[in-house]
Amino acid sequence: MDVVCPEIDRLTSCRTCGAQSLPPFRLCVAAHVACVPCAAYMSRCACGQPFAPGPHCTLDWLARALRHGCKYTAPGPAPSLSRLHCRSRRPHRRYSVRELREHYRTGCALNGFVCPLIGCGHVARVDTIVEHYEAAHGPYERLMSADPLNPNRITFKIRDVSWRTKEFVHKAFNGYFLFITKKSYQNPRNYNLSLSMQNINPSDLLKYTYNATVMSNEVMVTLSLNDSWAE
Ligand SMILES: [Zn+2]
Ligand SMILES: [Zn+2]
Ligand SMILES: [Zn+2]
Ligand SMILES: [Zn+2]
Repeated sequence: MDVVCPEIDRLTSCRTCGAQSLPPFRLCVAAHVACVPCAAYMSRCACGQPFAPGPHCTLDWLARALRHGCKYTAPGPAPSLSRLHCRSRRPHRRYSVRELREHYRTGCALNGFVCPLIGCGHVARVDTIVEHYEAAHGPYERLMSADPLNPNRITFKIRDVSWRTKEFVHKAFNGYFLFITKKSYQNPRNYNLSLSMQNINPSDLLKYTYNATVMSNEVMVTLSLNDSWAE
């Protein structure tokens, strides 16, 4: 018999970013659920309390005993009209934790994602696209902050910016950041650099900002994780 608890999806969503989380869970000291990236990179839960160390065995066990909905089945105010559902054969199906992970990897029809890198166009799933980046375009080394006092701020250089459009991917925090650069003449003695940045990991719900300083053929980028609790 399936054990269905209608509140389970709310119970297992990250208090800080809203993402559905699956075991092992991390909690804040006020017992709100945190997803893996929020617990790793945010200084506090959205409620203002710090995260508690270690997994939470009771909640892990409880979540494994219950059945969960696909996260792409978004509950709306009028379910019968506005329900956006995953077009698997049984859109309202409930899954065990193991089945749900497998559903995201192979079965879900709503989480297709096209690789945005120039000339690629590979279609993967939201939950597996970073594996494609690593295998087809990487491997990428995760950049770390060199300043222990500012763990949420990472500075790095983009080299060899040129007159043609170039793409650079940098992995930092939970994101894969695609920078597109192109130099163009403003007048014969001066040039402009157009630069854009996009986080191409669609399952990363954290928010980032960046600053760029141009120096001849290089760009110095400072990428910051927006953590409302950090000073
Ligand atoms: Zn989160
Ligand atoms: Zn909390
Ligand atoms: Zn689905
Ligand atoms: Zn690709």
